[in-house]
Amino acid sequence: MSLVVAITGGIASGKTTVANLFHQHFGIHLVDADVVARQVVEPGTQGLTQIVEHFGRSILNPDGTLDRAALRKKIFSNSQDKEWINNLLHPLIRQEMQHQLQLSTSPYSLLVVPLLVENDLQHMANRVLVVDVSEQTQINRTMTRDRVPESQVRSILKAQAEREARLAHADDVINNDAEGAQLLSQITKLHQKYLALCSENR
Ligand code: ATP
Repeated sequence: MSLVVAITGGIASGKTTVANLFHQHFGIHLVDADVVARQVVEPGTQGLTQIVEHFGRSILNPDGTLDRAALRKKIFSNSQDKEWINNLLHPLIRQEMQHQLQLSTSPYSLLVVPLLVENDLQHMANRVLVVDVSEQTQINRTMTRDRVPESQVRSILKAQAEREARLAHADDVINNDAEGAQLLSQITKLHQKYLALCSENR
């Protein structure tokens, strides 16, 4: 498989914005852990079949899709159920991410994994690119984007890795604090670096 670069960062750091720019400007193949996490429980999947066997059909919406709110409620109140669902879904998500990376035809691929450090998934990539912003930027951008109060953003921040812990795993860093943050210029430099690494490894 070609070079895989993991993109990670805390809430509203700009992972999606950065990944989309790599895709739009350079045609780089993206695999997004959040998208994959939904795909592995779509109707007809082994994931959803097992969830229904475990929790019963009340875990489904009338249209046969997973009732995420009902599932969240169950695992919030029962730690054994939470462990069960993590043991089921984490391997399925990893397998599907591998599969989608193998379909890549671009010189390198980007794997967007918000909780890369928290879930110890660094081994899935050759390099880690951290999109780094201050806590204040995270709070401002989440409040604007999601229309939520500051207290809610702070509780999400508490549940995620600390900025320094994430940066400790970084091979490359994009600083995304400034408005606009000259993202395209930062991304172009990294793109050239990744292409050079690809040709070194050929
Ligand atoms: P999450 O993990 O919470 O889904 P994310 O890390 O993927 O978020 P984005 O959705 O890309 O982050 O960005 C968060 C918000 O900040 C979006 O509304 C986006 O438009 C805005 N944003 C990102 N980068 C910048 C920037 N450099 N200047 C101004 N706004 C930005």
